[in-house]
Amino acid sequence: MQLNYCQAWNLKEKAKERIHGVPQCSYKLLPWLCTRLIETNPGTIAEYRCSDDGHFMQLFVALSVSIHGFQLGCQPIISIDSSHMSGPYKGALFSASSYDADDGMFPLAYGLFSSENYEDWLWFLEKLKMVIGERDVIIISDRHQGIIRSVSEVFGSENHAHCYRHIKENFSSFLTKLNTKGRKGKENALQMLDSIAYARLDCDYEVAMDTLRTFNHDLAKWVEENNPQHWAISKFKKMRWDKMTSNLAESFNSWLRHERHHNICVFFIEHMDKLGSLLVEHKNGLVKWNGCIGPKTEEKIALNIGKGENYITYLHLGSSMKVSNGKAFLEVDLMERTCTCKAWQMSGIPCDHACAAIRRMGFDVSDYVDDWYKYNLQEKIYSGSMRTLVTHDMPMIDEDGTVRDALGHTYPFLNPPTTKRPPGRPRKRRIESQFM
Ligand SMILES: [Zn+2]
Repeated sequence: MQLNYCQAWNLKEKAKERIHGVPQCSYKLLPWLCTRLIETNPGTIAEYRCSDDGHFMQLFVALSVSIHGFQLGCQPIISIDSSHMSGPYKGALFSASSYDADDGMFPLAYGLFSSENYEDWLWFLEKLKMVIGERDVIIISDRHQGIIRSVSEVFGSENHAHCYRHIKENFSSFLTKLNTKGRKGKENALQMLDSIAYARLDCDYEVAMDTLRTFNHDLAKWVEENNPQHWAISKFKKMRWDKMTSNLAESFNSWLRHERHHNICVFFIEHMDKLGSLLVEHKNGLVKWNGCIGPKTEEKIALNIGKGENYITYLHLGSSMKVSNGKAFLEVDLMERTCTCKAWQMSGIPCDHACAAIRRMGFDVSDYVDDWYKYNLQEKIYSGSMRTLVTHDMPMIDEDGTVRDALGHTYPFLNPPTTKRPPGRPRKRRIESQFM
């Protein structure tokens, strides 16, 4: 027997209903789940908003284990993004993730929304601000208009870093429109943009801009009009530990790629399971640390030590040293933890010049890595605990739609969002970016 697309789709939906319950009912139990989550994990934020007539609009969840870990040791840089929910009522999944002490993904909060606009982002970020407290943080994201406006209001525009991968994609589309000097010309222009974005010193930024301007005036104008102060390293005023993209948020989306097909209550519970195992996995990763820094940091340091192997170092009185890399003289200050190239102070990890100086003095390079990358912080980040959300006494939904438990107590409930499923076959995959 051959099924047409519609028949197959309906059968699949029926099968899902059997597994996960009737979609219309999934919102009914959300208030109960939020209350239960807060009771079992005190300090958790689980809040929802609905329309005047009780239709679901917004949900924000940050588990106490995430809040605790972030406050104790994560780098104050948070990647935010949205992706599609492809369950029965679609909608958007917002996320906020931070970095642990070995640059691993540390999920901080998520939100589910029936739409994605400025008001949704503003509400999500206001809740996120409650999680973060008074800490100064950098938010990194794409340039969705709703995000730009709300980040500026809640965290301040100067704390907003724009994802360089997205910038490069926009620049690339602009290049295609200009059709500059064929394929080779496009590659060259993209490399010039890299030089602009990654230049640490103002003078290097200017040289890179001049090169681009000579190549094509319109491209240089594009850079000037696209707020380089939010993405070019030399122009961004705050410490951002060389985090250039919102790839972390993309990792979050792919981490929950299967769960995103499910209804809201199933997602709510599955997210907890995934989070639990991720935190355990990261905590167990501590056994792979050799000494006070993690494997990823160690790799970076090994690379820098290798590069600086043959540099000539000159001792000075005080904490300053002169380093020659064969092309220029640079000054490394071991007390201030700075280098003329600015890589050390910007990334928190000694650059090749600093490695040469530190080793000349007979010191251990890992002692000069920022505290954000140290073992004791990683231990603290994963020192919390998380309790299971038990559902043995979960209420049932009566024939008339009332949510009632075995003892006859009734609970508040929500109705599904009023947004309609968009026409056509649901899109499951986002188009992958060409840049990493
Ligand atoms: Zn340096």
